[in-house]
Amino acid sequence: MTDGQTLYLVLVLLYFVDCILWVGTRTVLFAAPWCWRWRVAFAGPHLGNTEGSLALTNPLPPLGTVLATYWLPVSLSGEGVCSFRAQALGESRRSAPTKTVLAYGQIQEVGTDGKELLLNGKHFAKCESASQAWALAELIGRAKKASGKKRERVLREFVEARFSLKDAKARLELANRLSGSVRLCGLMFLFYLYIFIPAVVWRTGLERHIIPTAIAMLLSAILISTVFFLAHRQLYPDATSQRLGHVFKMVLCPPAAIRAHDHVVLGALTAFHPLVAAQLVLDKEEAQSLAGTVLRDMACPLPYQLDDPQAAAIVAWHAATERAVAEEFLRQECGLVPDDLLAPPAWDGHGTVYCPRCHGQLRSTRTDCPDCPGVSLLPMPQAEPPAEPGS
Ligand SMILES: [Zn+2]
Repeated sequence: MTDGQTLYLVLVLLYFVDCILWVGTRTVLFAAPWCWRWRVAFAGPHLGNTEGSLALTNPLPPLGTVLATYWLPVSLSGEGVCSFRAQALGESRRSAPTKTVLAYGQIQEVGTDGKELLLNGKHFAKCESASQAWALAELIGRAKKASGKKRERVLREFVEARFSLKDAKARLELANRLSGSVRLCGLMFLFYLYIFIPAVVWRTGLERHIIPTAIAMLLSAILISTVFFLAHRQLYPDATSQRLGHVFKMVLCPPAAIRAHDHVVLGALTAFHPLVAAQLVLDKEEAQSLAGTVLRDMACPLPYQLDDPQAAAIVAWHAATERAVAEEFLRQECGLVPDDLLAPPAWDGHGTVYCPRCHGQLRSTRTDCPDCPGVSLLPMPQAEPPAEPGS
């Protein structure tokens, strides 16, 4: 292999590494490769651990879009905060029950350290992003200052804001508008770095082009990172350290600048509930399917045991409030009837029981769902009971 081919291979590998994304277990990803329709994705069972898994985003060309939305990592009520939530979509089983609960009177200090939410200077919960940690810290600070019913109103308004379709639509339009120039610069750099330069080097040799190419790469990376910086600052004014981190990475590793567009758009809807992003980008059928999956997980969560009655009350209040707001959103903004989404699935002609959470159908006498540990199976209304063996 020649020096030029080795260098090209290194540049390609650097680019592919930057196409890999970490998807946490509380992340719902919406991805749209170029000219393909949007699809929804969760952390997968492979290439990861209990916290999430790796996913490959659209490698070539970088014309697609990826949006991330998050479940909350904590439950909140007028009483306090608990580092556990009833909803477990994307998780195959409950994580170890190491839950912490604090009443507002016990909270002296609220802060963050990257993705960590800190209460009284100690780790309380790990969020999916630094911006989610900031938002929760700010909410807990406001809830602590309020009292009684006003505190519950503050929390309910936070949940309602996560379901604001109008605000999410405006935010997505702004992100698309601001990221246009970043995407164009990235595409031009992709063409220059991986097609134009290799073609020139192939015809005339590497030696005479290596220094001019290195300078051109650096100047291109500086130009793209400047365009990226301006767009990112307008969308995420408080995310200074995250923004500077991306800029340094692009300048030090120019192929990373091709993916600058991803960093502008990815977090545009993280303040909103996944159902809102689904309504904005998925087609009607897929959005309705996700709505049913989410609502059934709210109505029939994986069973959990909380020995602390205060923690149980906080988790129950939060789950009930979020479900009520979600059902209102589905009725008002999506034209869906929550009871229809919770109804038994269409009979597959074979199953005798079904799972009210995942809608899986089985011809079986077992009592709980194999995919949703602890969730009781219900009889299919139209089905005949399974024949007894030997009959
Ligand atoms: Zn199930």
